[in-house]
Amino acid sequence: MRLVFLGPPGAGKGTQAEVLSRDLGIAHISTGDMLREAVGAKTALGVEAKGYMNRGELVPDKLVAGIVEERLKRDDVKKGFILDGFPRTIEQGKMLKQAMERLKARLDAVLYFETSEATCIARLSGRRVCKKCGAIYHLKNRPSKTAGKCDACDSELVQRKDDNEETVKNRLVVYDRETKDLIDFYKRDDLLRTVSGDLDVGELKGIITALFEREGLIRA
Ligand code: AMP
Repeated sequence: MRLVFLGPPGAGKGTQAEVLSRDLGIAHISTGDMLREAVGAKTALGVEAKGYMNRGELVPDKLVAGIVEERLKRDDVKKGFILDGFPRTIEQGKMLKQAMERLKARLDAVLYFETSEATCIARLSGRRVCKKCGAIYHLKNRPSKTAGKCDACDSELVQRKDDNEETVKNRLVVYDRETKDLIDFYKRDDLLRTVSGDLDVGELKGIITALFEREGLIRA
């Protein structure tokens, strides 16, 4: 199954992608995670991307498309993938279409997480992530068993640099300006399926699973 998760920052795409990719045995491809890894490792890409990310701006299309195309060539995507946070511009959408044609593959669906601004802000401000394995928590909605420690690997939980109030506001503006048009882009290809990102994690997961069953993408 080949999926794109689309929606504003804080819509819950990453959390659902983490859970569903594990259940379905498919790859979770998060451009945000790949870019943060590059920033951490201080690669040429990371050095270039860091400023954009800290300001809540998008990293230039060419840089991001390059890492996605490389990632899609790896063996573990053969069983399928969830693209989380890519594409984020029409240009990236077109690049993905071309990359899929080159791989002689097709997307099965684009899941749009329709989410209120209040939910996005509450989610991002309370979000904490594991410094080591990247697992996602929330101070209120999804707390770890021990405060400040990851359930999976016991490492420290931290707040992402771009989850501060000012940068969050900018990321939402950037989403409206650059990413929202992809909704119509994928509607035209009849790939768009809409779910509510305002629901809690368990409820939304149930709704997504039922939708995939109805669409014949997974067996009931
Ligand atoms: P995310 O983890 O998806 O919220 O992404 C964090 C940051 O990484 C974004 O605010 C952008 O600066 C950058 N980023 C992630 N994915 C993309 C993308 N597809 N295009 C451009 N920038 C991206």
